[in-house]
Amino acid sequence: MQVYAVIGYPLNYTLSPNIHNYVFRALRIDAVYVPLRVSPGRLGHFVEFARDSLSGFNVTIPHKVAIANLIDEVVGPAKELGSVNTVVNRDGELIGYNTDYLAIKQALSERGYSGGDALIIGAGGVARAVALALRDLGCGRVYVMNRTVEHGRELCSLINSWKIDCTALGIQRDVGLKVQLLINATPLGVGEEFPIRPRDVGAGLVLDLAYKPGGVTSLTRHAMEESVPFIDGLEILVRQAIEADRIWLGPFESPTWRDVLGKLREGLI
Ligand code: NAP
Repeated sequence: MQVYAVIGYPLNYTLSPNIHNYVFRALRIDAVYVPLRVSPGRLGHFVEFARDSLSGFNVTIPHKVAIANLIDEVVGPAKELGSVNTVVNRDGELIGYNTDYLAIKQALSERGYSGGDALIIGAGGVARAVALALRDLGCGRVYVMNRTVEHGRELCSLINSWKIDCTALGIQRDVGLKVQLLINATPLGVGEEFPIRPRDVGAGLVLDLAYKPGGVTSLTRHAMEESVPFIDGLEILVRQAIEADRIWLGPFESPTWRDVLGKLREGLI
């Protein structure tokens, strides 16, 4: 039997085992996926254990950056971002990928985004993956609003290094911005009201990375109320998981991300 895992700390709640174990069953693969709590001080020990015992693993907060320096190779956008969320074990060699980037790029592209100005709320790890996807889809100007403006400035420096204009701001509602795309890359809107509405910035598309199992986040509710098309965090979660499965298992057509997302929304997995 192959064993896969997700590692994080404190890793209180994760839907990843529901998704991957469903895919393994659907593909009739003898494999299991488990959540493993790994504290930052033990990440090095975990990597040596994984080399012998795991076929692959996902990485979540707070290990996505640290893991990149502990494995054997980091490839593609993960290398450019210095952030890994999926690792495959190829005969004891651990190779890192970033499937958040792939999921975000696919979802935006399928919703018809092919450029235009964008407002990113947040400046952490997933905001960087968003920025790279925007670059690769040919975005216009980027605005970054973040609680800690200095972190927003750091993300803007990265975006500027790609020859794209970027402005860092604090999180505020009435700044008179007009953008095509509004992105939430923070946990805001899961428990509290999201501070900005799509119509405040004239957005024609919303991407909300936050998700609320069994519920609707504040930003996606605002998008629905204003009839603005949106991509929610659960869709990105499922898309990135399916991309990880393709890295681990090789190409497959079915189940698709839509099949898995449907099962998850109905509470069937
Ligand atoms: P991260 O690297 O820790 O960054 C967190 C970001 O959120 C920072 O910009 C931080 O601002 C901001 N933030 C945190 N708490 C806040 C608060 N109470 N008020 C305002 N801003 C706050 O985390 P990440 O990996 O980028 O993840 C960000 C969010 O995206 C999380 O909710 C995560 O669950 C979600 N996510 C979803 C998926 C998916 O598949 N749907 C994938 C990855 C991440 P400061 O700089 O001021 O600290």
